[in-house]
Parts: sequence; structure tokens; C-alpha cells
Amino acid sequence: MTASSTASTVAETFAEAYARRPSGVWHAPGRINLIGEHTDYNDGLVLPFAIAQGVSVAASRRDDDLLELRSLQAIESPAFVSLSALEPGSVSGWAAYPAGVLWALRNAGHPVGGISLLYDSDLPQGAGLSSSAALECATALAVNDLFGLGLPGLELARAAQRAENGFVGMPCGILDQSASMLCKEDHALLLDCRSGLSSQIPLALGAFTVLVIDTRAVHSLVDGEYASRRAACEEAARLLGVPALRDVKDLAGALAALPDPVLRRRVQHVVTENHRVEAVVGLLRAGAVAEVGALLTASHLSLRDQFEVSWPEADVAVATALAAGARGGRMVGGGFGGSVITLVPLDRVPQVREAVTSAFLSRGWAAPAYLTALPAPGARRLG
Ligand code: ADP
Ligand code: MG
Repeated sequence: MTASSTASTVAETFAEAYARRPSGVWHAPGRINLIGEHTDYNDGLVLPFAIAQGVSVAASRRDDDLLELRSLQAIESPAFVSLSALEPGSVSGWAAYPAGVLWALRNAGHPVGGISLLYDSDLPQGAGLSSSAALECATALAVNDLFGLGLPGLELARAAQRAENGFVGMPCGILDQSASMLCKEDHALLLDCRSGLSSQIPLALGAFTVLVIDTRAVHSLVDGEYASRRAACEEAARLLGVPALRDVKDLAGALAALPDPVLRRRVQHVVTENHRVEAVVGLLRAGAVAEVGALLTASHLSLRDQFEVSWPEADVAVATALAAGARGGRMVGGGFGGSVITLVPLDRVPQVREAVTSAFLSRGWAAPAYLTALPAPGARRLG
């Protein structure tokens, strides 16, 4: 599905659903975080890139104060609410994400009135590709244009994050929304989660591709494991007397100062993962993409052994992909389910897929799903 075919299809579907033409069509992509896992809430570094798959929205202003929402991925549950009645808890299900964006913008004093929106998406949901941020960012961009708010991308990303934190009730960081909003084609976004500042890093994959393997194992970020990792990091930072683990400069000294082996492992991961982000940025700037693979694998081993958030399907996918010719691979996202990314020479993609699928089937697991991720542009108007 090309961007222009998506734009005309979603515009036509809008016209059928609402009996008028939309004023425009906007698109916001999903993202892959190349490296920098569990670093965001430690004030650290992440390196996401936007992918071609994403959420498109056709939209038009209304003369009243109503918000009308439909999604082709949730046709059975349209939403129709008054903007003045928007408050956390007033909208449930998928519609809370876009409604939350209007709530966040209006709460910040922006003049946002009634609007009809219709969404279509080619992004798998709940697979760690950040469909929720794509849904929010597409909404924020459409509203920004239609009501002439003139807000820069970073402000729109922050409004989208406030929607997810305060309206949906998911305490995510700014990574997903920044990536969807700010990424550029053929670039990764180096994001400093302390300052919110970002820079564009050239990402020329050349003879390689990033193959995403959805392990189809349950993705349960909201459970206690995620909260307990965050709490352990905060506790370690407190014991070490630093504002966040990002500030640990002397790893050996920090490890010697911590009596609890669990906390030592958590610190080891966070500190080395920040270093790996910096190392990957250096390699990309030098055009040495093949060497990035080893750092992805090192990240995976650290997430598996030090941070202890990997899951069996991810470990099998990474090991099998490496044996079949991938240059590196790691689990992505919070852990305990979701996807793995692998850096694969273009001519090895069929072998890697075949090997991983048969490794899964031979263990009695469902076959994984695959997606090829190319560094694509961030959120934009399509038509
Ligand atoms: P992820 O962001 O990793 O895909 P989340 O659990 O954060 O996973 O967000 C997935 C949720 O976002 C879905 O359950 C759904 O409520 C909403 N969503 C995403 N894309 C769409 C879409 N095209 N139409 C309707 N809802 C969507
Ligand atoms: Mg999400």
C-alpha cells in the first residue's frame, strides 16, 4: 500500500461514512527503536526510526463542538462525544487515544473545535511498533493543521504523550510520540530523554535490512514486571546518589557500591545500554552499518541476563536468526512478549525467515509474523 493509495482510499471511505469530502489526509508512522531499551525512564538515550507502516486519517472540521471518530480497524465501535464533556474516563477503548489528544490540546488552551475523523492503518497493533503513538500523532497533526494551531512537532508529540499518560492512563515516556512526529526518511532519531532534545542520524542500510519478527507472545507491559524494573532503577540511583542512572559515570565503582546483586545487574544493563546507543551512533555516522549488528546482539544479551526481561521466543528468534546469517538481533520494547529486530543482509532474508519459522514450529509455537522496516519519514500531510 503506497502513501498516495492510502490517502485516496481513506478520503473515499471518509466521504462514504460522513457524506462529505474530508478537508485533508494526514499520516503518522509506527517506529522501531534500533537501540536504547529501558533507558528512557533512566533519563538516557534512545535511537528510534520511523517505518513506512502507520496510521492515516482523513479529517474535517464541524460547526458544532462534537468529536466524531471512526476507524476501519474498529468499525464496530465508532465514538461520538461532546468536546466540552471530555475528561479522563469519559471515553473508553481505542477512541480514548485520539479523544485524549483533543483533550490535551484543549487543556493547554488551544482553540480546537468539533471535528470528524476517520482512520485506516497498516500497522499491527500491540506488536511493539507503536500503533498507539501513530494514532495519536496523526490526530495531533490533523488538528494542528485544521485549526491553524501552528505548533511545532515536539509540542504535538508532547500533547500526544499527555493524551496517553493522562487520558488513556498509560505512563509511557516521550520516545514513541517523538519518533512518529520527528523522524526523517533514511535517518534515525537520537533522542535524549532527559532534555527532550533530538538529532537526526543518517541511517543508510545499504545491503542490509531490519527484519522485524513478531514473536506473537503476549505483550503485557502494564504488568508488575515493568513497574518493578523502574522501581529498581530508581532505588539504585537513590543509593548511588545520582538523579538517574544516566548519571553513573564510573560503572565499576557503582557496581562495587551496591550490595544487592539484582540492583547491580539492572545498573549494568542501563549504563552499558546508553554506551551502546552512543557506539551505534558513531558507527552510523561512519557508514559502518554492518558493525551495528554486534551491538544489537550485545543489547539483547544484556536485556536477557542483566535486566531479565526477555522471553523464550525472543531468545530463540535471535539465536536462530544469527545462525542463519543475521548480523545481529535483539528484543525490542518493554519485554515479556512482542517483537525482535534483526539486522540481515538483503540476500539472507529468506533463509532467516525460514529458519526462525521452523524453529518456532518445531517447538509447538505459532509461526511468527515478519515485517521489513525501512527508515521512513515522520508524520506528514498526504493530501
Ligand atoms: P502498540 O502501540 O505497541 O501498538 P498499544 O497497546 O500501546 O500497542 O496500543 C494499541 C492500541 O492502540 C490498540 O489496542 C487500539 O486501542 C489502538 N489502536 C492502534 N491503531 C489503531 C487503529 N488503526 N484503529 C483503532 N485503534 C487503534
Ligand atoms: Mg503504544
